[in-house]
Amino acid sequence: MNALPTCPQCHSEFTYEDGGVYICPECAHEWKAQAGDAAEAAAKVYRDSAGNTLQDGDTVTVIKDLKLKGSGGVIKMGTKVKNIRLVDSDHDIDCKIDGFGAMSLKSEFVRKA
Ligand SMILES: [Zn+2]
Repeated sequence: MNALPTCPQCHSEFTYEDGGVYICPECAHEWKAQAGDAAEAAAKVYRDSAGNTLQDGDTVTVIKDLKLKGSGGVIKMGTKVKNIRLVDSDHDIDCKIDGFGAMSLKSEFVRKA
C-alpha cells in the first residue's frame, strides 16, 4: 500500500487517488499528484515536427540539415534514423546514425518515417 498524503486543506486522512489526482472526500479538494509519480512520468509524450507521437524503436527522418558541433559534419535533411531511443533531457532522442555514430537529436527536427 502506498501512503497517500493528507489533504492540504483540511488535513483529512481519507484522501484517495484517481488518475493522477488526489481527492479529499471530506472537503472535496482536488490536487495533482507530485511530479515524479509513476502516473506523471508515463504521461510524457514525445512528438515529432508534425505532431506525431514518437516511441522507442521508431524510425524517423531528419527534416533539416543539422550541423554537428566540433566535427564540422552535417547530418543531411532526409537522413533516416532507425531505432531511436527517447530520453528526458535537453534533447529528446538518442540514436545512432550511419557514418556518425551515437547522436542526440531534438524531436522538433525529425519526422516519423
Ligand atoms: Zn480536505
